[in-house]
Amino acid sequence: MSELEISMSQDTFERFWNNAGSNMDLNHLLAELPRADSDAWLTAALPNGTFNENFDDLEFSEAPAALMSPGLDSLPPPAAVVPSTSDYPGEYGFQLRFNQSSTTKSVTSTYSTSLNKLYCQLAKTCPVDVLLEKGPPQGAVLRATPIYKKPEHVSEVVLRCPHHQNIAENNEGVAHRSHLIRMEGSQRAQYLEDPNTKRQSVTVPYETPQLGSEGTTVLLNFMCNSSCMGGMNRRPILTIMTLETHDGQVLGRRCFEVRVCACPGRDRKTEEENSNKKNLKTASGIKRKSPGMESQVAPNAESSKKIKIDSSSEEEIFILQIRGRDRFNMLKTINDSLELMDLMPAADKDKYRQKRTFRNFIKPSPGKRLLQKDEKTDTD
Ligand SMILES: [Zn+2]
Repeated sequence: MSELEISMSQDTFERFWNNAGSNMDLNHLLAELPRADSDAWLTAALPNGTFNENFDDLEFSEAPAALMSPGLDSLPPPAAVVPSTSDYPGEYGFQLRFNQSSTTKSVTSTYSTSLNKLYCQLAKTCPVDVLLEKGPPQGAVLRATPIYKKPEHVSEVVLRCPHHQNIAENNEGVAHRSHLIRMEGSQRAQYLEDPNTKRQSVTVPYETPQLGSEGTTVLLNFMCNSSCMGGMNRRPILTIMTLETHDGQVLGRRCFEVRVCACPGRDRKTEEENSNKKNLKTASGIKRKSPGMESQVAPNAESSKKIKIDSSSEEEIFILQIRGRDRFNMLKTINDSLELMDLMPAADKDKYRQKRTFRNFIKPSPGKRLLQKDEKTDTD
């Protein structure tokens, strides 16, 4: 089976499952289906915890037989137990583009291409451009669905934390207060919860790009921090964007990671640097293993060890040899100050900084000009 064929059949299956979802309950559905040929398929698909691990290997030729059977065509949309997160441009060449790429301190949302990860602040607008190669069918919609990234969390629905839900109840109405993702700027945004999986998503009608622009911009808002207790609780999430027909048939899919945090620019920088370090380590690890390289890689291992500084060495003790007592005392004072600063409560540090700023505003009176240290030594 080619990759395209697999995605197609998964989509067909998703569509079927979604269609099966809303109108009838599962038992009803089971009674309706021709059991003889599709038992294996049904066992694999049931969301009852007995999910078949070999599900992917099952012959999908059995599923379409059930799909085609009369009476099932008109069923409403199915939700996959675990929504697919694989990118699928489909026949319309569905793509996303994030325009902000700055890592300055003040940026409220920024996207890392190398990590395929969006960093944004709570409730701030994140513009995402949707690009298509050709116009989708009339009535097509764009859907955003959050999902936990790690397999151990993926079955749990992503919701806002109780704290933010309660704030929302008072200020924003109750319709979508538990939804993590909102789409701003469209009166036609629809907040949905799948009746079977309870997964929440938001859709907006697809709008053709305005004259002169390549894509259509949707405005996403994430309404909790990644760290919110009782909500995401530091568990990484993905956002699945799908282009769908009006009846929920998936035409294209794109997926990206999201971190909602106070300092998107800083966090993106740190995570990109860490990822680079990891890649470098892996690369140099391979280099060292290759025979004949040893003498070139570490000609002076002893000395390079001493000056090596990395993030894991914060607690490591280093010994420095210093020539001359004055110099020693000077460096000792610096080191003592740093040690003291580590022990100082944050509030005291702030107080100290405020004092410093205040002092800078006081100019010495003209008559009592402060003597600079080097001037004094000159006259001596
Ligand atoms: Zn929250």
